[in-house]
Amino acid sequence: MAVDSEARVSHKILTWYDAQARDLPWRNPPGQPLPLDDPAWPYRVWLSEIMLQQTTVPAVKPYFEAFTSRWPTVAALADAADGDVMAAWAGLGYYARARNLLACARTVVSEHDARFPESEAALRTLPGIGPYTAAAIAAIAYGARAVVVDGNVERVVARLNASSGGKGELRSLADAITPSQRSGDFAQGMMDLGATVCSPRNPNCLICPLSEICEGRASAESFPARAPKGAKPSRSGVAWWIEHEGQVLLIRRPAKGLLGGLMALPSEGWDGLEPSLDVEPGAPFAKIAHVFTHFSLNLEIRRGSLKEGCSLPEGAQWWPAARLDEAGLPSLFAKAAHTIRKGGS
Ligand code: SF4
Repeated sequence: MAVDSEARVSHKILTWYDAQARDLPWRNPPGQPLPLDDPAWPYRVWLSEIMLQQTTVPAVKPYFEAFTSRWPTVAALADAADGDVMAAWAGLGYYARARNLLACARTVVSEHDARFPESEAALRTLPGIGPYTAAAIAAIAYGARAVVVDGNVERVVARLNASSGGKGELRSLADAITPSQRSGDFAQGMMDLGATVCSPRNPNCLICPLSEICEGRASAESFPARAPKGAKPSRSGVAWWIEHEGQVLLIRRPAKGLLGGLMALPSEGWDGLEPSLDVEPGAPFAKIAHVFTHFSLNLEIRRGSLKEGCSLPEGAQWWPAARLDEAGLPSLFAKAAHTIRKGGS
């Protein structure tokens, strides 16, 4: 694509974004000066970007509102108790993000005077911030020219250029059309276009600002090229429902690893951890299926009771069954608890 066409692309995207930007609680209105005097501004951008990794905008909105009203600054978040943050994150999934969120907030406070660094290179040294997130924060929070490439942007540039190239080529194509001014608005415009118009299926080319210059429009759905997917391995295990006088036994999972630091039903056989309880099993009650990033899980839920003399391990606690919603169970165990309380399925 020639240089003048590249400039035309950014002009079209910015004009479209000025009129069509999604109204999102973490955003600065399009074209407005960045609120750089507000110390909470980069914090809000960072928080939204971490929450949006592998999670949809509608799912993120209530969590973003809850986090920013409870912890309005990075210093407030850095001071929070780990268990409170993990419980507030429950249901959003990919819990390593929540652990990195706390580690990052504490590093920003202790090593950067509670102010997020501005350069991509410095941002990338922080826990949980990879190349994409560093570019997004540099561009959106600070207005730096940075090439921000997520799945939506890859799709738009692949179709715009009719490119079947891999990630490296798509990044170069995105680099070529990223303007030096308003690169944060440009990045958000490309993301919005990919999310709302140039969707994976049935892109709405009739209302697209790029339709006149889009080289892949006639066969849009064949771009970008898809990598062949292997089947996910599957695992199986058991979760125990151990109830005593209206209370259910929960256990806090080890801080590191899958669902780390979260309250859960005691379980075994699926996560590589040694069982920490000696359980007298009852009859199988129900089965649920759950999909993690790298494997799918079939979890059998059984009632059980503690064998005589079995002492409670560290992190175990009896929790009122009527207040289970407040325990911050991750989706897998919330689903298991819901299934057993409504009588199995
Ligand atoms: Fe996507 Fe169609 Fe726009 Fe091309 S014209 S960028 S395929 S929506």
